[in-house]
Amino acid sequence: MIRMNENYKNLKDSYLFFNISKKVKAYQEENPDKKIYRMGIGDVSLPLGEAVIESLHEAVDDQGKKDTFHGYMPEVGDESLRKEIAKYYLRRDVKLDDDEVFVSSGASDELGDILDLFSRDSKALIMEPAYPAYVDANVMAGREIIHLKTDASSNFLGRPYDGLDADLIYLCSPNNPTGAVYGKKELKEWVDYANKNGSIIIFDAAYEAFIEEDIPHSIFEVEGARTCAIEICSFSKTAGFTGTRLGYTVIPKTLERAGMNINAMWVRNRTTKTNGVSYIIQKGGKAVFSIEGQEQVKRNIGVYKRNAKVLMEVLNKENIYYTGGVNAPYIWMKCPNGLKSWEFFDLLLKEIQVVGTPGEGFGECGEGYFRFSTFASEEDTKEAAKRIAELLERIKG
Ligand code: PLP
Repeated sequence: MIRMNENYKNLKDSYLFFNISKKVKAYQEENPDKKIYRMGIGDVSLPLGEAVIESLHEAVDDQGKKDTFHGYMPEVGDESLRKEIAKYYLRRDVKLDDDEVFVSSGASDELGDILDLFSRDSKALIMEPAYPAYVDANVMAGREIIHLKTDASSNFLGRPYDGLDADLIYLCSPNNPTGAVYGKKELKEWVDYANKNGSIIIFDAAYEAFIEEDIPHSIFEVEGARTCAIEICSFSKTAGFTGTRLGYTVIPKTLERAGMNINAMWVRNRTTKTNGVSYIIQKGGKAVFSIEGQEQVKRNIGVYKRNAKVLMEVLNKENIYYTGGVNAPYIWMKCPNGLKSWEFFDLLLKEIQVVGTPGEGFGECGEGYFRFSTFASEEDTKEAAKRIAELLERIKG
């Protein structure tokens, strides 16, 4: 009889989004006339930019003509797209060779697949509250997880500590769910730790485009990262590709462990396990880097940033602790009056019809916190913010 991967039995059921939708559905059934303001979504709401759409149309037409038809694409990505991505890093003085960039169909895929390169008895450090996929992908592999709980005392930014013995280190900056962002000095501490300990940092930069302060967008802005880090990034939140699927992974050719070159291993992995991203999507993605493409990306992110501002103004006025918002599309607030995450969720839904995400769903140490996303429409965000302000005033102790 076949033996199964029994590690799947160790996965905890995640009821977070299931419970949210169950509660919202029940409320809506009881109150069909009430509009719900959805501030919990992690998906973008604005469409792809015009330059991308034009490029996608062209690519579809290319596929219908003998002279421009493309079959299989290189497994590691189209050469010209790899070049564009490498050029994008140059803006922040990060020099990459084109073959250090791997085009992918999104960050989620890569965050899971990359684990293939590391022994199952390596230990993974995951900072909590955490993006749930980090934990689950490692549980599936039977890997030991070191849960590094963070809290407001460090603004939810974990640091290396004495006695830490981690092989893989997940860093997500700007962070989902907390919106917190590492400065260069703190990132350097992780880079130094990883180089000294022979660990590898998996740096999730899915929200780098939201950074507006002078802080690193990429781990490779930090000296020493080329010998200890892999960066995984995505077009999803930057350019609205959540439903179109495109991302990239950067693995320096200088990254080696146990005499094995990790860039070369990933080339071998990709050429074995994928047949690349479609020509159409990659051509669409290339348009993100055109002048118009970049303007459109900025315009859309500007909308989400205005949403963040509207929400932050309310929290500032009410003197409520939060992280995020400035450099991230998430705001992670302390629930008022000592309420627990789900209690605050229920209050918001019943009293003002605003839906967010209870922090406890991102790990135990998220209890008492609440995540708002800034991806809803401007109109809905303004109305939600007004209602939140009124509610906070009303329940003030
Ligand atoms: N990493 C983080 C931190 C995310 O929040 C998300 C999506 O919400 C992803 C990765 C996945 O991105 P993609 O759409 O490229 O799979």
